[in-house]
Amino acid sequence: MTEWDIQPRSSGCTGCRQAFADKQAYHTLLALTPEGYVRRDLCVTCFPAAERTSVLSYWQGEFKMPAPPPPEAIQKENAETLLRKLVESTDPSHAAARYILAVMLERKKLLKHRDTVADAAGNELLIYEHAQSGESFTVPDPHLRLDQLAEVQEHVAELLAPSKKVEAQPSQS
Ligand SMILES: [Zn+2]
Repeated sequence: MTEWDIQPRSSGCTGCRQAFADKQAYHTLLALTPEGYVRRDLCVTCFPAAERTSVLSYWQGEFKMPAPPPPEAIQKENAETLLRKLVESTDPSHAAARYILAVMLERKKLLKHRDTVADAAGNELLIYEHAQSGESFTVPDPHLRLDQLAEVQEHVAELLAPSKKVEAQPSQS
């Protein structure tokens, strides 16, 4: 299994199957099993009795009814689409780019940092939740050195704006 992953937020409680209402509080338990990540979103009633085996991370959120995306989402879509593509890819060479994109989207408040945990092998995993859809993104921290950081940022900027590459312009974003 790969450690980088996206898990959707349920539209209702995983325990009692009742649909979440707008602004309803939920508790999320993210477990790491031999088969991969298992995410449960639970209502306040079901949460205390929920099984905690292999739970890696826990956070609370507030359910948001899906709404039409705001106009600025079109601009932000590039970094988000690219991150989704890279998280779905099993290629380990994308580790640095995944991390940079997640940090970029956190700065844009599109992703919320929910937790930082370590897996059984001691790798640090950053757990983000998408501000609108509630999906959780698990991104291993590649612990980039400062000199690697600039290189990766440049590479990501090129992926986001291929036209700039032709002009050989340093990108500002
Ligand atoms: Zn419930």
